Amino acid sequence: MKLILSLLLLTLISQHILAQQNFDTVNIRPVKVVENLYMLKGSGGNIGVFFGKDGTLMIDDQFAPLSNKINGAIKTLDPGEIKFLINTHLHGDHSGGNENFKKMGITIVAHDQVRERMLTEQKSSRGTAPPRDKDALPAITFADKLNFHLNEEDIELIHFDKGHTDGDVIVHFKKANVYHTGDAFVRYGYPFIDLSSGGSLNGFVNTLDKLLLLLDDNSKVIPGHGELATKADVKAVRDAMADIRDQVTAALKKGKKPEEITALNITDKYEAAYGKGFLKGKDFVLMAAESLAVKK
Ligand SMILES: [Zn+2]
Repeated sequence: MKLILSLLLLTLISQHILAQQNFDTVNIRPVKVVENLYMLKGSGGNIGVFFGKDGTLMIDDQFAPLSNKINGAIKTLDPGEIKFLINTHLHGDHSGGNENFKKMGITIVAHDQVRERMLTEQKSSRGTAPPRDKDALPAITFADKLNFHLNEEDIELIHFDKGHTDGDVIVHFKKANVYHTGDAFVRYGYPFIDLSSGGSLNGFVNTLDKLLLLLDDNSKVIPGHGELATKADVKAVRDAMADIRDQVTAALKKGKKPEEITALNITDKYEAAYGKGFLKGKDFVLMAAESLAVKK
């Protein structure tokens, strides 16, 4: 039993790293969301694919070594030309294939800050990313909102606030009532707030509050990572993060230091639901304290 447990633990710890290394063994699996709109799972962030007579629009592209497999999977769903690629944010597990897709003649679209940050070296608690190649850069960028009218669908790209990063974009397929959230909403456990890329816990909660105003009980949500979700799933994450945020804020106001706040066991009741990801409750509280201390 002990061996099984430690093997399981090892698997969980190494899952993230392994997922990024064994690209040869990665399969790209399509999951139908609604007619002509799919989620592709492989390694890295969930990909969205929307196709029709005007051409194909894809959202995020995982890691560069997977580009051919991803392109193949998309062409199996629909042979039409891929015209647009949206990056929900700058991270490499969502934009790693940009160079490859740009070389196929696809136009990359993202928030202003995604392009800005791709131009320079990015440091975070998870490592250093060098400036991206020119071919990886988005050709079209925007600050708050951008609309696509494609395949008789109205698609709105929305930047609500600084949350996971300062360049987060949520993609809303209005007629289909489908959303792709990028890492503004994830299902792998505690969310990662990338403070060095302008992320903010207050902004993260604010983003989910604004998203919840748009969602209804029939909405389908493609998260940045994890399985398809509903409004109730988004609400649960929003409530947990707001509760942790409020408790950490209160402790900071009392003059407590981040290390003292981690000893308050604020996240104990959330460990079962959120502790299985790469962040543990204490890591998340430290991240929250850091984010809230700088008042963003
Ligand atoms: Zn990310």
